[in-house]
Amino acid sequence: MREIYLDNSSTTKPCENAVKAAEIAMRSNWGNPSSLHSLGFHAEQTVNQARETLAKALGAKKSEIIFTSCGTESNNTAITGAVNLLKKRGNRIVTTAIEHPSVLNTVKHLAEQGFEVIYLHPDKSGVINRDDIYAAINEKTILVSMMYVNNETGYILPINECRRAIRAAGSPALLHCDAVQAFGKLPIKAESLGVDLLSVSGHKIHAPKGIGALYIKSGVHIKPLLLGGGQENGMRSGTESVPLISAFGAAVEELPDINKQLNDMQSLCDYAKNVLIKTGVVIVNSKEGSLPYILNISVPGYRSETLLHFLESKGIFVSSGSACSKGKGSYVLSEFGLKQSLVDSALRISFSRYNTKADADELAAALLLATKSLRRSDI
Ligand code: PLP
Repeated sequence: MREIYLDNSSTTKPCENAVKAAEIAMRSNWGNPSSLHSLGFHAEQTVNQARETLAKALGAKKSEIIFTSCGTESNNTAITGAVNLLKKRGNRIVTTAIEHPSVLNTVKHLAEQGFEVIYLHPDKSGVINRDDIYAAINEKTILVSMMYVNNETGYILPINECRRAIRAAGSPALLHCDAVQAFGKLPIKAESLGVDLLSVSGHKIHAPKGIGALYIKSGVHIKPLLLGGGQENGMRSGTESVPLISAFGAAVEELPDINKQLNDMQSLCDYAKNVLIKTGVVIVNSKEGSLPYILNISVPGYRSETLLHFLESKGIFVSSGSACSKGKGSYVLSEFGLKQSLVDSALRISFSRYNTKADADELAAALLLATKSLRRSDI
């Protein structure tokens, strides 16, 4: 049976160059980057080369990139670090209600310690409203954390408005962006975006799992989470994972031209939307203008999990909501105002450069078959 992988927002298949880079680092370049001898020097060179690649991709300086273990760690470091740095200047954190749990649970923890957390909600038209952003940020706000692209729907958030709102309020706030679902898919340049901190993760762009990075703007001295030997410019102690860092660099180098790929992905997503709607059993939940790598749909009358396993039996892999919300109805879709019946029957289809229109055809045919073969549930 042909396998069709349509769950690329959960994780992606490592690309050939990433696998090769990790293997070389493990077989021959396995020194500790902090060692003073030549084995250490070669390992350090490899880490620095990957850092240069990441910096170039993000329009940043090499010294502004630190490697972490994942997007979750980057988000935790950015948020906790910023709040610890600025807590004498204010008490308010502004974020959105549709962030990834690695942001939401971190700010929840800070709320338990007494910080005031303001959550921005999508309005009736399903967008984070500019006026709400301006109203939430005041002179006591010390951190604004907004994701670039929502991981369940592909909605692109108005991160640009945050910098303007921070300035307008005369606020000392640092601006953090969780760009895990946007990196490698949209042309992101940290400086022009006006962010102080920006999180990315390797396994969403064909690098292995267990490697992420955090952009920290020059001059922003947040406190580290991990203390120890002072690696990564003192920001992330612990011996660097040279194989994973090297593989991350290789995956970034292998990224095709971002704008061209975005066009290709828009064609694929539009095609998929068309064939899915033509089945007559699918409703599209993702809004026009969303990132075309992610397409959220519902098949009313059928539970997400039942559909997911039916598709799996046909060799098609998708997700019900995000991989992190295993088994629970999606809080994100509820925030976007979807009826419970659509939330309970939602599937997230997410593409990579390895998908084709034939994959979309097979998905549509399999979903139609599902509605003919499975019993409707009373959701
Ligand atoms: N932020 C977003 C928007 C995500 O989609 C994810 C993972 O799905 C993360 C953060 C966490 O990244 P990681 O799996 O590398 O910890």
